[in-house]
Amino acid sequence: DREKIIMTGVLNLKAKKIRDVMTNLEDVFMLEANRIVDDELVLNVYGFGYSRIPVYEGEKNNIVGLVYARDFALPDTESGKFTVRHIVNFCKHRYGTSITPDDSSYDVFNLFKKEQYHLGIVVEYDNTSEKDPRARAVGIVTFEDIIEEMIQEEIVDE
Ligand code: ADP
Repeated sequence: DREKIIMTGVLNLKAKKIRDVMTNLEDVFMLEANRIVDDELVLNVYGFGYSRIPVYEGEKNNIVGLVYARDFALPDTESGKFTVRHIVNFCKHRYGTSITPDDSSYDVFNLFKKEQYHLGIVVEYDNTSEKDPRARAVGIVTFEDIIEEMIQEEIVDE
């Protein structure tokens, strides 16, 4: 029954890796930092319907910030001077930056609770070049992804 299923989900959380619950980067709706905030962009943001949107610069695996869809209710889109970067710097939303695919979902659950954010960028480190040990984004994970794993059921958004 449902109780058993949920209990099993909770007990298995420690063994469940982030790679099994994350959303892969190619499926993530993101914005480029230098993009001008105009009406077209705002419609695009609301059209996708995600509450949180990672911001990249140049390459999509180079995440430099996070914006909320609701941030786009504020800016003046007429001037043509506002960029996504301005919103990132003004709002400064917190998010996880160093979660890896091999992390346990249970640890990330505790991290989200402790740090009080709901989204983390999942990164891999490029070991091929010692000079540039940059973290390369491979996906995102949200609180909802982990809760779904606990209750073993998809949460359908309203
Ligand atoms: P929302 O509040 O936008 O509905 P949730 O945190 O509830 O987002 O997550 C719902 C699902 O959508 C999760 O699987 C999560 O990984 C995914 N998700 C969240 N934000 C984005 C995004 N910007 N692009 C693609 N998928 C996303």
